[in-house]
Amino acid sequence: MTLAAEAAPQGPAETSSVPPANTPSLVGLTRAGMAEALREIGTPEREIRMRVAQLWHWIYFQGAREFDVMLNVSKTMRQKLAEHFTLARPEVVEEQVSTDGTRKWLIRMPPVDRLDKGAEVECVYIPESDRGTLCVSSQVGCTLNCTFCHTGTQKLVRNLTTQEIVSQLIAAREMLGDFPGLTPPDNGLIPSGEGVRAVSNIVFMGMGEPLYNFENVRDAVEILSDGDGLSLSKRRITVSTSGVVPEIERLGAEAGAALAISLHAVRDDLRDKLVPLNKKYPIKQLLQACRDYPGASNARRITFEYVMLKGVNDSPAEARELVRLLKGIPAKINLIPFNPWPGAPYECSSWDTIEKFSDIVFNAGYASPVRTPRGRDILAACGQLKSETEKLRARARLAALD
Ligand code: SAH
Ligand code: SF4
Repeated sequence: MTLAAEAAPQGPAETSSVPPANTPSLVGLTRAGMAEALREIGTPEREIRMRVAQLWHWIYFQGAREFDVMLNVSKTMRQKLAEHFTLARPEVVEEQVSTDGTRKWLIRMPPVDRLDKGAEVECVYIPESDRGTLCVSSQVGCTLNCTFCHTGTQKLVRNLTTQEIVSQLIAAREMLGDFPGLTPPDNGLIPSGEGVRAVSNIVFMGMGEPLYNFENVRDAVEILSDGDGLSLSKRRITVSTSGVVPEIERLGAEAGAALAISLHAVRDDLRDKLVPLNKKYPIKQLLQACRDYPGASNARRITFEYVMLKGVNDSPAEARELVRLLKGIPAKINLIPFNPWPGAPYECSSWDTIEKFSDIVFNAGYASPVRTPRGRDILAACGQLKSETEKLRARARLAALD
């Protein structure tokens, strides 16, 4: 992928002069952000609404890479826009495709300031027959150190901006040929057909704790779900949290996204070890926040994620306790087979144990609870992100030196 300014012009070429390297991109901005950008270049107040609507359509609905294609915008305005802004999006620097169709992209963000080198995050696309799910990151790394998660062992941490979060979907849709005028890669694994979209669902289950980056995640949900642009239903946008209790209510009230809770244990002493944030916000408080979650109903259930760790949290008694704890909460349960990483202090429960656990949960009325690991061959499964790629790259560099 190249930046918009470097791409071959698709329309009249006069307005596509190459702007300086630190020119801001309009891709990934909220409506308010775009209005502000337009004000800064002296756009008259009476025009702003209309201009934002035009840009919104071209950027988020059409996936425009250049101002030149915006034929309903006057040439003078296009020229002015190109002088001050770009339509740059992040660069996909690596793509891996799993045998099961899962795709993992390493995405390099443009630097946010002079000191920033440009964050690299991983983004995973999981196609199924009737849906396509994009797993996005909200931070580079994570500060929370859950003991079973590889992302938590990374040192470098920063919040992604709203632009960086949204542009993961823009980059994904380009890779999948899912903007007008683009062609999907021809391998038959991308869901298609009447009313089926290549990316129909978004889960904030990549790197980072989304609720530690609340405002940017909230604004990203607003952009992703805007009906005039990317148009994803809020029901199909799920934010997963390890349990940042004070922000849960805000997520429901201000973003209206679906909620997923990384529960993983039914007792505080064990959850304190697996998800150290539990010491601050124990299970009882967390479940109360779920009971109070705005908009939760039987039609909009809260997902509880439970990673299956051999001999740690996988006994039948814990399955029964899980069901007891969740009584009264409109819930779905996702049992996640633990995805191992080098040096991990845990193993995945045996299939037999997972089945027994799952039967207890199933008999209590929760359907299809085991999440099949996807993309394990390309290290795209939960908890395997980024650090693995870094390791593989380091290995490749060492091999090159041999
Ligand atoms: N920080 C957020 C969202 C990102 S993690 C959260 O914790 O919810 C997304 C999901 O992957 C979480 O449920 C997390 O517990 C799970 N996960 C992390 N490492 C894993 C691993 N090694 N195997 C299986 N699931 C893992
Ligand atoms: Fe962070 Fe989530 Fe991993 Fe915990 S499981 S370390 S909160 S990314």
